Amino acid sequence: MKAALLHKLGGPLAIEERPQPQPAAGEVLLKTRACGIDGTDLKLLDGFGYAPELPFVMGHEVAGQVAAVGAGVNEFAPGDRAAVYNFLTCGACPYCRTFREQLCPQMGGIVGVLDVAGGYAEYVCLPAQQLIALPDGVSYRDGATCCDAGMTAIHAVERSGARLGDRVMVIGIGGVGSIVTQLLAAAGVKVLAVDSDAAKEDWALSMGAAVFLNEAGDDLAARAQCVSEGIGVDRVIDVVGLAGTMSAGFASLRRGGRMVVVGYTPEPFPLSGKELAQNEKEVVGSRAGRRDDLRRCLELYAGGTLRSIVRQTYALDAVNEALAHLRAGLRGRIVLTFD
Ligand SMILES: [Zn+2]
Repeated sequence: MKAALLHKLGGPLAIEERPQPQPAAGEVLLKTRACGIDGTDLKLLDGFGYAPELPFVMGHEVAGQVAAVGAGVNEFAPGDRAAVYNFLTCGACPYCRTFREQLCPQMGGIVGVLDVAGGYAEYVCLPAQQLIALPDGVSYRDGATCCDAGMTAIHAVERSGARLGDRVMVIGIGGVGSIVTQLLAAAGVKVLAVDSDAAKEDWALSMGAAVFLNEAGDDLAARAQCVSEGIGVDRVIDVVGLAGTMSAGFASLRRGGRMVVVGYTPEPFPLSGKELAQNEKEVVGSRAGRRDDLRRCLELYAGGTLRSIVRQTYALDAVNEALAHLRAGLRGRIVLTFD
């Protein structure tokens, strides 16, 4: 099979012939039909964050068609369409037992990110429990984007506790931010979309944002006050995680407001204990999503609540061009598609 291999940090990836994996007992061989590309891939390439053993096959947003199943697999059969939950969780720890499996400290790897080969290849072989059926009517490319961006968006919105009529600032209108915006707008929330790229205004408004803000720092906090009756926003969901975005987000919150940090970078941000305590502000983290968040995201696509964020597709052979395109910036998502 053809696969794109990361041999050294910084890339480029090399397209090579690799042996096609065979499913062992309990495993499923999936023919990759679509694989999303996002900022996590750039972090891997740049050596920030996870450090898989090289060479490695990236690709953590995988949707495909079952090609073969190993012994003992009854829930899937060849021809079935499926999306991949990319955390290989232990299933037994206190987090796994309480439906917070994305916090499992004993993961057996992360598909396309750590120890488990991902979807920048024609086939992926995984334990059957990593697969979730792709509902009828949901394309492989949209299904793929649910596997990280979509489930992360659902989990972040839940962590925010946003309610009908709230004003919520969403910082960073990339893949996750675009789906967060759609989810909040569908739930009757007024979304203030923030992005450093002024050219994203039309895109953000098309996703359902009520207002687009291109300011940063104190200017952003001032604008947030301005468009929220002078009291600040109810919630902030920061998908960027730079010191500047977290500080501006925190300063934009109303008393009793909550900021959810979803995106992250190596930068810490200064947090005033006085500001936190006296205003009863909250700052919470949100990591990717649970298996059920992925399932619900697929259902929201099937039901028509969510619209596609895919704007561009590339073939596997052009994966380096696709990564360069992502790095240069774009509105919407890039997905690798396979025949
Ligand atoms: Zn666990």
